[in-house]
Amino acid sequence: MIASFDYVIVGAGYAGSVIAERLARGLGKQVLIVDRRPHIGGNAYDHYDDAGILVHKYGPHIFHTSCKEVFDYLSRFTEWRQYQHKVLASVDGQLVPIPINLDTINKLYGLNLTSFQMEEFLASRAETRDPVRTSEDVVLNKMGRELYEKFFRGYTRKQWGLDPSELDAQVTARVPTRTNRDDRYFTDMYQAMPKYGFTRMFATMLDHPNIHLLLNTDYREIKDVIPCKEMIYTGPVDEYFDYRFGKLPYRCLDFKHETHNMPQFQPVAVVNYPNDYAFTRITEFKHLTGQEHPKTSIVYEFPQAEGDPYYPIPKPENAELYKQYQALAADTEGVRFAGRLATYRYYNMDQVVAQALTVFSHIAGVNRAEALELKKMPKITTVTFPAVAKKPGRMVGAALSAS
Ligand code: FAD
Ligand code: UDP
Repeated sequence: MIASFDYVIVGAGYAGSVIAERLARGLGKQVLIVDRRPHIGGNAYDHYDDAGILVHKYGPHIFHTSCKEVFDYLSRFTEWRQYQHKVLASVDGQLVPIPINLDTINKLYGLNLTSFQMEEFLASRAETRDPVRTSEDVVLNKMGRELYEKFFRGYTRKQWGLDPSELDAQVTARVPTRTNRDDRYFTDMYQAMPKYGFTRMFATMLDHPNIHLLLNTDYREIKDVIPCKEMIYTGPVDEYFDYRFGKLPYRCLDFKHETHNMPQFQPVAVVNYPNDYAFTRITEFKHLTGQEHPKTSIVYEFPQAEGDPYYPIPKPENAELYKQYQALAADTEGVRFAGRLATYRYYNMDQVVAQALTVFSHIAGVNRAEALELKKMPKITTVTFPAVAKKPGRMVGAALSAS
């Protein structure tokens, strides 16, 4: 029986799994990962639904990055399917490309503008904002009020429960505006989906005899009985400190999954509904995964004030409150904080991987490039590692009594 672990890691999402992999494979440490959910992968978890279609339980996850280091690192654990993400917005009864591009404007207004004319079109409508502080400023400054109201105001109010004028610029700045006909959602150098899904990629990452996994378990249930030298915490930071300075606001989502008896539900993976309905968007998974199946599965996202936390809310008061928790976290010996909820950052998957690799490099006392090279896995192996706990047992993966 292992008396104690070198590290207990709270959370089997990107942050926890990347650090666990590097500690175990790179430094030979004994690691226990604890997750209160019944599966690995955190919010990126995917699985086959009752119809046999690969779906993302917590909404659409599309991998994209411009960081070669991150892409190369994940490529140790998966092959990829090339995929360029396309999104349409339902506006004025039409489906038009978002990010707004030349085709969006021409279709919406029945015009035949060139790229140059579109630049003039936007410039003539833009309301100059200086400085650009809020999410409203970002959009008004680029395209003016009418397009802001058609594409951004309603969606943002639904998604965040706040007006764009109350949110930091970074939120709507995630969506660019183009005067060409490029209709891809992202333009990063690397855009791809793990060939066999995210969960399989995580299972391969965690398939190591030094990595032990305890699912269906809140770390607070075991922290006094399973000692460790150091902890990595990837859950909500305010929860860790029992909300000492008050609750950090998070935006929650309800996911409504459906399967339809038709091969295709909508023309692209995601359709946004800025102005109608209580949901923000519908995702059809087969577009993302390339799976062929006579039926199709979709998910609706309904933003909520209460429930499981999914998004930190980027606004000045929240950043101030987070700073108090951040200072407390920095002073907490024996615990490191990593990931989207533990560092209260609106991070994409690749940013969380990069942050986790940096945390690991600090632990290892080497730079990030060296941290990646420590005993790296030579090639992708096929794993039989169980990714989901079978109730009532909690423990999967390498047994706690293994060594
Ligand atoms: P999580 O994935 O949240 O993992 C944290 C884990 O910790 C969870 O599994 C949780 O159960 C566990 N945990 C928390 N507290 C405890 C506790 N007390 N005890 C035990 N376990 C605990 N990013 C992209 O790059 N592309 C996308 O297309 C994309 N789409 C997204 C869509 C939605 C709807 C959402 C919500 C996010 C999306 N993201 C996307 C962001 C992506 O999900 C995150 O960047 C990433 O999954 C965060 O990883 P993490 O490890 O920080 O956190
Ligand atoms: N947004 C919008 N209309 C859209 C798409 C996005 O107003 O059609 C705004 C909205 O505030 C959203 C933000 O831009 O929360 C970021 O969009 P993204 O698609 O990156 O959101 P995520 O996938 O992270 O939910």
